[in-house]
Amino acid sequence: MYLIFLGPPGAGKGTQAEAVARRLNLAHIAPGDLFRQAVEQGTELGLKAKSYLEKGVLVPDGITIKMVLERLEAPDCEAGVIFDGFPRNLEQAKALEQALAKESKVIDKVIYIKVSQEELVRRLSGRWLCRHCQAVYNIIDSAPKIWGKCDKCGGELYQRPDDAPETVKKRLEVYAAETAPLIDYYARSGKLLEVDGEASVEEVTRRIVAALGKGEYVAR
Ligand code: AMP
Repeated sequence: MYLIFLGPPGAGKGTQAEAVARRLNLAHIAPGDLFRQAVEQGTELGLKAKSYLEKGVLVPDGITIKMVLERLEAPDCEAGVIFDGFPRNLEQAKALEQALAKESKVIDKVIYIKVSQEELVRRLSGRWLCRHCQAVYNIIDSAPKIWGKCDKCGGELYQRPDDAPETVKKRLEVYAAETAPLIDYYARSGKLLEVDGEASVEEVTRRIVAALGKGEYVAR
């Protein structure tokens, strides 16, 4: 099964993709995570991507598509994948379709996680992440038990530099201009499943699993 998780920055794509991938035994490909790792490690890819991430704009398609398609060749992707934050424009959508078609595969469903603009800004400005396991916290409604430390693994929490207000504004503009048109594109192909993302993490996971027709979701 090949799934795309679509939605604006702050919709909860990453958190939900991870939960659903675990539940359905699918690989999870998130270009944003791959770019952040590369920047942290100072690799050639990281050096190329850094300035785009800092500005909140898309990394050029040539770099992004190559990275994602290489990742897709790994053995863990054979049984299926959740693409989280990819594609982000029509060019990427077409490249993904072509690559899958070569293997006689298709995108099965696209989960569009819908969240209002005010809620996105609230979530992004209060967001802290674990440097080690990528768990997400929010100072308003899901603060860690010990300030600055991850409840799950004890790792150090940090704020993404691109969650600064000016960069958030830019990322939302880029989403509206370049990524939102994909909602129509996938709706026309009959693959779009819209899920209301304004509920608890567990409830949104339950809604996604139900929308995919995978039966009753039992939290683990
Ligand atoms: P995310 O973690 O999905 O919010 O992505 C963080 C940043 O990584 C974005 O603001 C872009 O600079 C870059 N990025 C992530 N996914 C893509 C993509 N599909 N195409 C281009 N750039 C991307």
